[in-house]
Amino acid sequence: MLTDSKLCPVCQRPFENRKKWQSRNQWASIVYCSKRCRTQARSRTKSLPPEA
Ligand SMILES: [Zn+2]
Repeated sequence: MLTDSKLCPVCQRPFENRKKWQSRNQWASIVYCSKRCRTQARSRTKSLPPEA
């Protein structure tokens, strides 16, 4: 059984499935807790140098 919570890689906060993501396929593809975090992650990988 799939868990209904994930950890956002940007803000490091757990977030749960929401009504707007009730579709299982949609939830499975969700990585970030919010649109803002997703945008942040994209800009961050752009501006930051690669790790190590
Ligand atoms: Zn987040």
